[in-house]
Amino acid sequence: MSEQTYNQIKVLISEKEIDDKITAMAREINETYKDTLPVIVCVLKGSFIFCSNLVKKLNLPLLEIEFLAVSSYGNEIVTSGKVNLTMPLTGSIEGKDVLLVEDIVDTGITSKFLINYIKEHNPKSIKFASLLCKPEKLQDHINIDYLGFNIEDKFVIGYGLDYHGKYRTLPYIGYF
Ligand code: 5GP
Repeated sequence: MSEQTYNQIKVLISEKEIDDKITAMAREINETYKDTLPVIVCVLKGSFIFCSNLVKKLNLPLLEIEFLAVSSYGNEIVTSGKVNLTMPLTGSIEGKDVLLVEDIVDTGITSKFLINYIKEHNPKSIKFASLLCKPEKLQDHINIDYLGFNIEDKFVIGYGLDYHGKYRTLPYIGYF
């Protein structure tokens, strides 16, 4: 697949649909964590837009945010099956209520890796939010506590998701 121009990109999920969904997810998350001080773990780079729009809708001013980065696709559109932790967690999550925020669950390999990685840091609890999931591609059951949208098996871009490092800033989820 070569680089495409903007007018070749089709919209799969509009900005408004995403915004409404994030509002609904935030309502649930607010309820779950109303009596605790959660730590959000934002998985870079893909979930930076979803995560920032989600936390703005949370009525939890004392929550903390940590970041980590993984790469599993390199520049390909199919997963290499091997997850590289390119930036580990820097802050402590020990004894804390962690909400892991991912952009998309495809095979589930990355999420499984990340959930195990978080567990090794002895949090009090761990929940998982993902904007997107491709159920047809899942290799194993993954419990997604807060899910935006199930989508068909398409390579998608936008709203933080890239192709060759590009298209992350599209305000919608699109495909070629
Ligand atoms: P998994 O390990 O579940 O197969 O893949 C998870 C990671 O692969 C995601 O965090 C994301 O970075 C990348 N990924 C999976 N599907 C897509 C897709 O359709 N588009 C883009 N841009 N990245 C994807």
